Amino acid sequence: MLEEARQLLERYYGYSSFRPGQDRLISSILDGHDVLGIMPTGGGKSICYQIPALLLPGVSLVVSPLISLMKDQIDSLTQMGIPATFINSSISGSEVGKRLRGASLGQYKLIYIAPERLELESFRSLLRSLPISMVAIDEAHCISQWGHDFRPSYRRIAELLAELPGRPRVTAFTATATPEVTSDILAHLNIPRDQVYLTGFDRTNLKFSVVKGENKHDYLLSFIRERADQAGIIYAATRKEVDSLCELLVKKGINAGRYHAGLSDGARKEAQERFLYDDIRVMVASNAFGMGIDKSNVRYVIHANMPKNMEAYYQEAGRAGRDGEPGECILLFSPQDTIIQKFLIEEGIGDPERRTNEYRKLQGMVDYCHTTRCLRKYILNYFGEEAPEECGNCGNCSDEVEEADLTREAQMIFSCIYRMKERFGAALVSQVLKGSRNQKVRQFRFDELPTYGLMSRHTEKEITDLIHTLSAEGYLTLTEGKFPVLKLSPKAARVLRGEESVLQRRRIAVRREEEGNAELFEELRKLRKELSERDHVPPYVVFPDSTLREMSVLLPTDRSSMLSVKGVGEAKFLRYGVLFLERIQAYMEQGSH
Ligand code: ADP
Ligand code: MG
Repeated sequence: MLEEARQLLERYYGYSSFRPGQDRLISSILDGHDVLGIMPTGGGKSICYQIPALLLPGVSLVVSPLISLMKDQIDSLTQMGIPATFINSSISGSEVGKRLRGASLGQYKLIYIAPERLELESFRSLLRSLPISMVAIDEAHCISQWGHDFRPSYRRIAELLAELPGRPRVTAFTATATPEVTSDILAHLNIPRDQVYLTGFDRTNLKFSVVKGENKHDYLLSFIRERADQAGIIYAATRKEVDSLCELLVKKGINAGRYHAGLSDGARKEAQERFLYDDIRVMVASNAFGMGIDKSNVRYVIHANMPKNMEAYYQEAGRAGRDGEPGECILLFSPQDTIIQKFLIEEGIGDPERRTNEYRKLQGMVDYCHTTRCLRKYILNYFGEEAPEECGNCGNCSDEVEEADLTREAQMIFSCIYRMKERFGAALVSQVLKGSRNQKVRQFRFDELPTYGLMSRHTEKEITDLIHTLSAEGYLTLTEGKFPVLKLSPKAARVLRGEESVLQRRRIAVRREEEGNAELFEELRKLRKELSERDHVPPYVVFPDSTLREMSVLLPTDRSSMLSVKGVGEAKFLRYGVLFLERIQAYMEQGSH
């Protein structure tokens, strides 16, 4: 049977072999099992139901929420010689009748339907008269309330299945299903657990990284300029942000276009085509962009804002490197992003249980941004796949990391949380540790705690960042909801008792390929010369060339970014770093650099 399937693959699609996972899944369908296939975007799910549909008698139904893509999908099947049609709201009543009659006469092997159709009893009764041998459910996560795109009409699928004479085979497919969504799909469709095919979530050609504390505009501009001939997508959270980023890029001479739901159909279509044909190089887009986009040479996907959950992130980032060539997936994180996402949850979701669930998913996303462990492992584990400790090809696994001992800082934080009776969030804890005089701190008399001002040498932001990292690493847990409260985990208690230390993998500033700003580099060399004469030491003792070079690339603007430059430690920062900061600042202000 599988051999026949292979021949069809060759004949209709022109592919010589199945991808890993496709053949196992197809065999199982052909053996008569109901299956759930979980494969990443671009993994080749369609073929997994189209080929069995061709081999099975009668017709197969495909339920899909992607109504705007149906016509194109059917056109391309038709062009390959596969008899298929679709039924959705764009079709007149009489045309629906005609297509269904055609189906009962055996004119089609596949009928794509929009889930909303199933709400109509009249439509379901028409389906009962068709020889349906398989129902394929695409984007099956829409069944689950815990998924990221719940569609109530998907719940009607089970009803339909119960009504159809001679229960057809049921196959379900999705790119993103967490363990609980998986369980939900299985329970709802009655698919046995041993028929879950989870394949290849790892996209080994993609390099993931999270960038924090950078000026987003500067980062984007320099990143894009370094890749003058490559296509990329930049995702932003709001229409307004899409517009302003696109404007910025265009103003700086970059060939960019934009895409979001606020634009007319025509404008969107045009932008999309121009991007597909490499007419525009960088697409700045909201999450409305990407469904069904099969452009394979997208070399990078940058998220200018953190998305609402890992499912959305992996789907969007996964649009890089579909051709198997290296791709970069970079998330530019700022704490503001969390606030926006919380706002969207509050505004958008009424049901309290679902809201709590969304908050939990959001926390999973925030943890991704703060973990110092392997990002690939984090992603794969999130989707229920095993992974080695380190992948060697993500921002956290690159060679340029060092282990820093943060036990002291962690103890200060844990102790402060403990003394505040584990009843407050990261912001207030940071303020207390910083020694803030703010109203709330005084109101609760936290300025009388022994931990008050204990970390005054850090900025509040540094303290909150550290708290987030500690929570991503499992030392702290956050309660669910709009105002998460910090609690100590047993791991934290061991650190407080001095039984365990906290080691953090810290990224040493990545040195970029290019040489940085040569003019600024010269400026910095001059300053180094002055200081070396003042202190009677050779220049390289002040800072080696490589450090100056890195400063001219990274353009640090504050203490923490200066400290991230390789070769700048605490002591040297105080002695020299401050002066270099001033010089860089002056240089930047003096011209349009
Ligand atoms: P998904 O629905 O999982 O996102 P698709 O079914 O749209 O992915 O397939 C993505 C791309 O991979 C399509 O261009 C498809 O033709 C191609 N493809 C699928 N299976 C194979 C295969 N066995 N060999 C080569 N290309 C394949
Ligand atoms: Mg698909």
